[in-house]
Amino acid sequence: MIHYNQHLIDGDMRTATSAATTTIHDSTTEAPIASVAHGSASEVDAAVVAARRAFPHWANTSVDERASYLRAIADALEARSDRMADAVVAEVGTPLKLARRIQVQAPIAAWRAAASLAADALAEMRVAHSVITKEPVGVVAAITPWNYPLHQITAKLAAALAAGCCVVLKPSELAPGVVGALCEAVLEARLPRGVLNIVHGDRATGAALVAHPGIDMVSFTGSTAAGKQIAATAGAELKRVALELGGKSASIALPDADQAMVVKHALSSCMLNSGQTCSAITRLIVPEAQYAAYREQLREGVAKLRVGDPRDADSRIGPLVSAEHRRRVQAYIARAEQAGHDDIAIDVKPDVPPRGYFVAPAIFGRVPIGAELAQEEVFGPVLAVQTYSTEDEAVALANGTAYGLAGAVWSASAEHAQRVARRMRAGQIDINGAPFNALAPFGGFGASGIGREGGAFGIEEFVELRAIQLAQ
Ligand code: NAD
Repeated sequence: MIHYNQHLIDGDMRTATSAATTTIHDSTTEAPIASVAHGSASEVDAAVVAARRAFPHWANTSVDERASYLRAIADALEARSDRMADAVVAEVGTPLKLARRIQVQAPIAAWRAAASLAADALAEMRVAHSVITKEPVGVVAAITPWNYPLHQITAKLAAALAAGCCVVLKPSELAPGVVGALCEAVLEARLPRGVLNIVHGDRATGAALVAHPGIDMVSFTGSTAAGKQIAATAGAELKRVALELGGKSASIALPDADQAMVVKHALSSCMLNSGQTCSAITRLIVPEAQYAAYREQLREGVAKLRVGDPRDADSRIGPLVSAEHRRRVQAYIARAEQAGHDDIAIDVKPDVPPRGYFVAPAIFGRVPIGAELAQEEVFGPVLAVQTYSTEDEAVALANGTAYGLAGAVWSASAEHAQRVARRMRAGQIDINGAPFNALAPFGGFGASGIGREGGAFGIEEFVELRAIQLAQ
C-alpha cells in the first residue's frame, strides 16, 4: 500500500492532519493498493494563504523565467514516466502502451508546449491609443478528475503558472499516482514556495477550496453535476470559473462516407480508455438506408476488441476505474436492454476476465433521441447508434442533447463534411478521422462547460485584460 498522506503546502511536504482517507484498488486485481488523505479545511486554508503570499512575486517574474520552471518540471516528470504510467494502469485501467503515450508523454509535452507558447500568448497588444496588457487572474483553485489525471492537471497548471497565477490543486482522490510524482517534480524544479500547492482530498476538500475567499478563479474538470455546484458557489462571490464537463458526442456518417473507416473510428473513440473519456464518440449517426450494413460492420468490429489485463500488450480494453463505477455503467446497460433498443453486440461481445472492474463493450441501435442512452453520459464502453433520413435530421440528432463537447463528420467530400461540422454545436469536431490537436482549443458548448483549455487559448483563460489609454 502506498499512502498519499502528504500535501504540498508552501514548498514543504506536510503530513496530513485528518485521519479520513479513500482506499484505491487495483482496477484489474481488485487488491487495495493505496490510500489518499482527505485534506481538511485548515490544510486548504494554509495552501491558499501560501499561494496568496507567493502571488505578487510570481506575477512579476518574467515570462521567460516562468517558462524555464515549466521546462524543469517537465524534465523531472519525464524521469518519472514509467512510474506514472504504471500507476495510471493500476488505478484507471488504461492499457499500458496507451498509458505511456497519452497519459504520460502527451502531458509532459504539454508542459513544454505551454513554456514555448507563453511569450506570444501573453504579449501586450496595441489597439488605437490603448496598450492592452495581460495580467494573471490571481490565485487559482484547480480541481481535476481521474480519467486522464496528468493530462487534466497539466492543462490547468502549466497554463496558469505560465500566465503568472499561483495555484492550489485538489486532484482526484481516485488517481493519486501521478500526483506523488508531480510533488517530487515541483520540489526538484525548485519552484518558489507557495506558487503551486497540492492538497489531496475528496469532494469536501474540493468544496472547501472553491468556497475559500482567497481564491480568485476556479478551474474545474469533472462531471456536469459537480460543475454546476461549483459554479453556483463561485458565482456567489463572483469568482471566475472555467469548467470542462461531460459529453455525449456524435459522429455523423454522411451517405458517401467510407463505412469501414467510420466504424473503426467510432469503436476506437468510444472504447478508448474503456469509454472513460469525456470527448468520446458515444453516438454514431448513420443513414437509415445503410443501417443494416453499419450494424454488420459494428458486430464484426466489436467481436475483435480484446478485453483484458491492461498490462498485457494484446488488450484493447482494460477495466473501469472502480467497482462503484462498474455498477453504474452496468446499470445503464441493463436499462438500455430493458428499453428494447436493438442490442447489436448481444451475441458477439468479447469475453471479460472474471476478476477486475471489466465491462464488455455494448452497442445499441436505433436509439431514439429522447432515450436515456442518447442523452446521458455513461462513461463506459457503450455506443448508441441513431439513424437519419435527411441531413437536417442528422444535424438535429447530433445537436439534440444538453452537451456539446466534441463530434465527428465523415464524407467523401471534405468540404461537405466541413459544412456539416459548422452546423454542429460542439467545441471540437474531427473531419474524416483527423487526429487530436493539443494546440487547438478544447472545451464545450452548453452543459459541456465554460471556457477552453489547450495551447495558447488555455493560457489566455488565466489572464485579466488591462487597457492603458495613452493621451493623444
Ligand atoms: P467528479 O465531478 O465526480 O469529480 C471531479 C473532481 O471534482 C474530483 O477531484 C472530485 O473530488 C471533485 N469534486 C466532486 N464534487 C465536487 C464539489 N461539489 N465541489 C468541489 N469538488 C468536487 O468527476 P469524475 O468522476 O472524477 O470524472 C468524470 C467526469 O469528468 C465525467 O463526467 C467526464 O465527462 C468529466 N470530464 C470532462 C473533461 C473535459 O475536458 N470536458 C475531461 C475529463 C473528464
